[in-house]
Formats: sequence, C-alpha cells, structure tokens
Amino acid sequence: MSAILDRMAAIVGAKNVITDADAMVPYLKEWRDLFRGKAQGIVRPSSTAEVAELVKLAAETGTVLVPQGGNTGLVGGQIPISEGKEVILSLQRLDKVRAVDTDGDTMIVEAGVTLKRAQDAAEAAGRLFPLSLASEGSCTIGGNLSTNAGGTAVLAYGNARELCMGLEVVLPDGRIWNGLRQLRKDNTGYDLKNLFIGAEGTLGIITAAVLKLFPAPAARATAFLAVPDPAAALELLNAAKAGAGGTLTTFELMPRIGMDFVLRHASGTRDPLSEPSPWYVLMEVSAQQASGLDEHVEAFLGEALEKGIVTDAALAGSLTQRADFWKLREMLSEVQTYEGGSIKHDVSVPIHATPEFLARAIAAVEAMVPGCRPVPFGHLGDGNIHFNVSQPVGADKAGFLARWSEMNEAVHAIVAELHGSISAEHGIGRLKRDLLPGVKDPVELDLMRTIKQTLDPKGILNPGAVLAVK
Ligand SMILES: Cc1cc2nc3c(=O)[nH]c(=O)nc-3n(C[C@H](O)[C@H](O)[C@H](O)COP(=O)(O)OP(=O)(O)OC[C@H]3O[C@@H](n4cnc5c(N)ncnc54)[C@H](O)[C@@H]3O)c2cc1C
Repeated sequence: MSAILDRMAAIVGAKNVITDADAMVPYLKEWRDLFRGKAQGIVRPSSTAEVAELVKLAAETGTVLVPQGGNTGLVGGQIPISEGKEVILSLQRLDKVRAVDTDGDTMIVEAGVTLKRAQDAAEAAGRLFPLSLASEGSCTIGGNLSTNAGGTAVLAYGNARELCMGLEVVLPDGRIWNGLRQLRKDNTGYDLKNLFIGAEGTLGIITAAVLKLFPAPAARATAFLAVPDPAAALELLNAAKAGAGGTLTTFELMPRIGMDFVLRHASGTRDPLSEPSPWYVLMEVSAQQASGLDEHVEAFLGEALEKGIVTDAALAGSLTQRADFWKLREMLSEVQTYEGGSIKHDVSVPIHATPEFLARAIAAVEAMVPGCRPVPFGHLGDGNIHFNVSQPVGADKAGFLARWSEMNEAVHAIVAELHGSISAEHGIGRLKRDLLPGVKDPVELDLMRTIKQTLDPKGILNPGAVLAVK
C-alpha cells in the first residue's frame, strides 16, 4: 500500500481499504463494460466524519478522489480511467436511515442507502418515496442525487432534484456543510443544494440528504397497451393526464423490437397481448381512493380503443401481473446486451417533438448503418427517449461500435434542431464530456468552470468528469 493509503487506513480501518486486484474489479468496471478503470485503491468510510478526514488528507497531499455509490452510472463518472493514481471513495457504508418524519413528510438518509432501501423505509412509515429506476436495488441515494436521476415517475413527482430538500456535503477542503434542512420554505440566499445535485461528484461528496415523502397511493392501475405509432402514444398521454381517473405516474414507450428482445432473453416473460404491435405503452395511474380506479381507467381505455389511439389493452388484475408488465419495461436495457453491440443516446426533446424526433433519428441511423436495429424506448411522458441502436444481426461488434461517435453526431444534430438535450437523465460523466462544449451556451460553460475552480481549486474531486481538465 502507498503511504497515502496507509494514512487512509488509519482513518477507516485497514479492512476498509481494498488494494487486491481481484477485489477491486467490481469497483473499476461498470455493468455494460464500457468503462474499465485503474485506481491505487478503494477506500470505504462509514461516517461523514471519516469522509471529511479522508478529503482533508486528499487535499493536503493532492490525492485525487473519485466518489462512487452503487456503480450503476451510465456515463462513466464513477470510474477513474487515467493511469491509476486515483483513490475510489466508496460511499456504500454510509448506509443509515437517520430519521423519518411523517408530520413533515421527510426522511433523512445517508448517501450509501440504496434507492430500494429508501423506498422501503418510506413504505414502512406509510409513505411513498417515488424515485424509481430499474437499477434501484443497487444504486444509492448519493449517486441518484449526484446524477439528478430521473426514472419512471418523473411525470408525477419530478426528478431527484425535486425530491430533495437538503444536503450534507463534504467540501473539497474537508469542511462539512450541514444543509440538512427540512424546511418547505427557506429563502435565505443562494440555493447551494442544487449546485451539488447533478454535479457528478465534482464539487463535493454528498454524505446525507433530506428526501421528500408523499402519501402512499391507495390504488394503482397498471396497463400494458398496444399503440399504432408514437403520435398516437402522444395523443394518449395528453388524454391520460386529465382523463384517466387519477394521477398519471408512468407513461413509458416501447417498440416491438424491444419486446422481442425481452421475450427472447428475459426468463419468465410473456406478451400480455395476443397480437404483436409496432409500439407499446406501459401506463400507470394512481389514486388516493381505494376503490373505483380500475373502472375509471377501463372507461378511459375504452374510449381510446374506439378512437384507435390504442389498438389493444391489458389492465393488470393482480400485483403479480403488475410486476410482469413492469418486468417487460425494466429488462429493456439489459436484454440489449445479448443482441451484440448497442450504441446509446439518452436524449430529451420537447414532448410535442418526440414523434418527429423518432421518425428522423430512426431514418438517419438506418441510412448510416443498413440493417442496424433501433430500439428507442423510455419516458415519453418526459420527452426522454433512450435512443439505443443494436448492431445488425451477424455484424462485427467492434466494427459497429467504432461508429459510436459518428452515430451520436447524427442523432445529436437532430436533437439540437429540435431544441433538446444530449443528456436527459444519465449525466455527462466521462462519456459525454467532450460533447458538452458543442452544446452548452459558452457563458454557462464558463460559469461551470468558475464554480469548479472556486470550490475545488486543487482539482482533487473527480477531475475529468463533466468538465475536461485544462
Ligand atoms: C439497468 C439500469 C437502469 C437505469 N435506469 C435509469 C433511469 O431510469 N434513470 C436514470 O436517471 N438513471 C438510470 N440509470 C443510471 C444509474 O442507475 C443512475 O445514474 C444512478 O442514479 C447512479 O447511482 P449510483 O449510486 O450507482 O452512482 P454511481 O454510478 O456510483 O455514481 C454516479 C456518479 O455520481 C457520483 N457519486 C456517487 N455517489 C456520490 C456521492 N455520495 N457524492 C458525490 N458524488 C457521488 C459518481 O462520482 C459518479 O459521477 C440506470 C442504470 C442501470 C444500470
């Protein structure tokens, strides 16, 4: 172990410093294997005080720290990919639910609490913490806030930023900022919390957060719907917002090819509908009344079927069926890995422009790589499409993936023309860092650099993520 790691071990205990090459692997590669990194070691503190001491030591010695939560991030922000001088600061052992307040509908949790555990703690108190992602069993609240995660309930509840009322952060000089305020109203100056949310570990280490809780819905109706095209899905979305008899919490679009991939590779899945359809929508509506919701949703879907914006429908009749519908959606990312190389885009456009975006982007990538298989899916209700493109059947994977930048450029050009964003919810990390100058307002980018320089003048926190190192 290096002298630095020895000093870190004195803070966290020797068994919480990992240097064995095999033991480090799970921290140094992400699940799609797009990024593999190097580090001098992994350090696992268990308290805010230990994080503060580690950061102070790093600042004093110029040691670079890369914060990591559940290592489910999709843009490589949590993986150091330089020559291996970095130390990964794993926050997983900061895993306490510190308090649940059902009067104020808030919960204070530490950064390493997994999203699933935060949801469960809310449920145990008769409340809902609505952030929901397919990675929720592994991703952590610190990672969710640092990436301002979105997911499948943004439509009704907002993204991670909107679900956070306060933060505790260790600053790059080791000071602890206690901003764990549980106040619904607090107009006392700059909103610093929002600087750290979405900063991807470049401005401070989030150690705990105050999260907003909501009443747990008394009823949920979950429908799996066949729709003829994205324009019909959009019409359905607009109708469902006011007319489905409850709060529209989820509205996810899926293409048939995605469904084919799931049915082929995910065990225990089956098509809930009798005939294939070019597109599908997973829709969920929730209500505070225990009875009547299914009837409302059935009546709403009856009208949609009559209008032809829905061509077939299945309404979940049990919790098991609901879980089966959700599995079809949640497996969509994973199953693409079994179909060879996949070039990804996490983009958003104004909601009204999603059908145009899909038509143009599909045409563009099919013209570029004949035989490629676009699998665009995701959060239509937020204008956020995961525009993934699988390689042609039988094509050389490496040859296809070599066209990643070229394809990104073509898709991002369409996004720009439609006034959209090249990163809707996954962040910038290392994957999209060099694209940022091409899409950000230069003044905004300059302000971002100024903030980074002011808070982290020594560049010890996750350098090379979000902003290039000058
Ligand atoms: C199957 C799958 C589905 C997904 N679905 C979605 C989705 O629907 N919506 C969505 O938004 N994302 C999604 N993601 C992406 C990912 O799960 C989220 O970005 C998640 O919020 C990352 O949390 P994490 O704890 O794994 O963070 P990590 O991957 O460990 O880190 C992510 C970033 O946050 C920083 N970071 C982590 N913890 C801290 C901390 N405590 N303080 C400061 N910085 C920190 C890291 O340095 C890194 O830059 C999905 C991922 C997978 C694998």
